[in-house]
Amino acid sequence: MKKSNKNFNLLEPQSKEWGYKLMRSSPLSARRVVVKLGSALLIRSDGQGVDQDVLTDIVNGIQWLRQQGVEVVVVSSGAIALGVNNLKLATKPKALSQRQALAAIGQSLLMRAWRDTLGTFDIVGAQVLLTHDDLGHRRRFLNARHTVRAILDYSAVPIINENDTVATEEIKLGDNDNLSAQICSLVSADLLIILSTFDGLFTADPAIDPASKRISVVETIDEHITNLVGTSVTQVGTGGMATKLQAVRAATRHGAAALIAQGRQPNVLQRLMQGEDIGTYFTPQEGRVRGKRHWLAFTLKPAGALIVDSGAAIALVAHGRSLLPGGITTVTGNFDVGDAVKVIDLGGKEIARGLVSYNADEIRRIAGYRSDRIETLLGYQHGDEVIHRDDLVLV
Ligand code: GLU
Repeated sequence: MKKSNKNFNLLEPQSKEWGYKLMRSSPLSARRVVVKLGSALLIRSDGQGVDQDVLTDIVNGIQWLRQQGVEVVVVSSGAIALGVNNLKLATKPKALSQRQALAAIGQSLLMRAWRDTLGTFDIVGAQVLLTHDDLGHRRRFLNARHTVRAILDYSAVPIINENDTVATEEIKLGDNDNLSAQICSLVSADLLIILSTFDGLFTADPAIDPASKRISVVETIDEHITNLVGTSVTQVGTGGMATKLQAVRAATRHGAAALIAQGRQPNVLQRLMQGEDIGTYFTPQEGRVRGKRHWLAFTLKPAGALIVDSGAAIALVAHGRSLLPGGITTVTGNFDVGDAVKVIDLGGKEIARGLVSYNADEIRRIAGYRSDRIETLLGYQHGDEVIHRDDLVLV
């Protein structure tokens, strides 16, 4: 027990320990938040569909967050459970194709509930269905990112679920927990909030050990922490605490903070965001590059290179600008839109990596020209930048 104390602190709910209090109050500074809701939380176990009280309270919280200037992206489970409900099945079937069919039946009911409830708060929702695969392919990842950004620009709330119809190995334990971590990376969120029927992380299974205590803050998810978590699975959803922890680990590695809390507590989002000591707070892992940057810098294999003049090099490195065609002198390799390339200065030194918005041939044609010439040179244009700042990481 001594050993594990170095990694987490037990706090009484009203503790005055300032350090942890401070950490717990940091959600307030988050500007973009991913809120993940589990099926067991959203869908009533008595077969009566969506738990309207829970959904209304959450949407009320979403409205409050938006009023604080926080952008909210929702990952909502519940399609399969609603399908089961709708067909009045006694249990969730085991066969993948049946679950996929139930997801198809339930998804429209799930969206209707979201749309109607958001509507009572004058908020517009947008259904986004993704698979893990979409997020693993650069072009699709970028497309999804641009779309979600555009949804947020319209002040709508993306309601994301897995595209269960086409997902194969994806409908499995805790899928949407992991999806929510990937969404954090997709939208560069600063905070992931996983709402479920669990009160947070405990020192032991509270159902078995009444002396177990909720852990208020976790700084490092190591084996002491993972050992605390069994493989418990709720009846209605597909995930348990183990998959939540996996998701939190991924999100915190990508530089976001995370919270796991019980979603039935009234005003749960407002309370969490104001630093109230409920649930478990996980601090972002310091010294790590943010998700997108990490992915750009370390995961993708560069498919080519752009050699840039000194003006462009200074714009990128010193001024944090995007890469425009004007500063590009040479293009090497054969790459497609969305591929990762190296950006090299005239001295041959790699200065950055990024995802290109034009393919190699197109860049050869527009290199050296001002962005307002792109349309004339190519007959179309997908933006002024060859690499947008958001898709660029300095190395
Ligand atoms: N995508 C599934 C659904 O909406 C849920 C997966 C999960 O519970 O993690 O029913």
